[in-house]
Amino acid sequence: SASIKPLVAGNWKMNGLRASLGEIAAVGGDFGPTLSARVDVMICPPAPLLYTAAVASVGTPVTIGAQDCHVAASGAHTGDISPEMLRDAGASAVIVGHSERRADHGESDEDVRAKAQAAWRAGLVAIICLGESEGERKAGTTLDVIARQLSGSVPDGATAANTVIAYEPIWAIGTGLTPTASDVAEVHAALRKDLESRFGVEGAAMRLLYGGSVKPGNAAELMAIANVNGALVGGASLKAQDFLGILAAYG
Ligand code: PEP
Repeated sequence: SASIKPLVAGNWKMNGLRASLGEIAAVGGDFGPTLSARVDVMICPPAPLLYTAAVASVGTPVTIGAQDCHVAASGAHTGDISPEMLRDAGASAVIVGHSERRADHGESDEDVRAKAQAAWRAGLVAIICLGESEGERKAGTTLDVIARQLSGSVPDGATAANTVIAYEPIWAIGTGLTPTASDVAEVHAALRKDLESRFGVEGAAMRLLYGGSVKPGNAAELMAIANVNGALVGGASLKAQDFLGILAAYG
């Protein structure tokens, strides 16, 4: 729907030191009222930078998100971070189910669903990631995989306000490869259909991001695809100049 305000979110992954916070200020400083009326912008730095990033974002249109959370609010879980803590540090959203978490930490759809519910409990928007592997794409099972992940990873009670879905084909992440526009359109149309049938008007209004090798040079084409309501950006979100080049797709 043309009435969905897009979101461009940058996922810094395990990159960035305090010296990198200037990139957030630079994005915020360059992101004027015309652009911020058209697109929402978020940066998801690593956890140690969340609070200072949130401080750096005050007075700019940039909002701050986290990259993962534990399901519990507190307790004996050494090294983990609760959604309540993320919220307290200044995050308004958290990415859950990124393919790197699914692969490196064995997170299942059920784990991801529980994390999304925990995010909501703390008042965070859940940015729920899904996407097929290269093998699944080649085997022609992409739409089955996506449907299964959507069904398993998105909790009942998802609304356009509390949930964002990010389609990220694993083989396109950090590789410089992107699906064709018609392949993206096919997946996003299938996601929209499933979301509408399960969540009605909320599913129709939910933001569906594309992620995987989005760059300044391909953002305009990707963002123009039907049912693509913004982007989740990894590598090209680390430098303000690149990230602003992507945001310019909405300029
Ligand atoms: C990501 O990991 O969310 C991602 C989209 O990475 P990149 O833009 O670097 O492909």
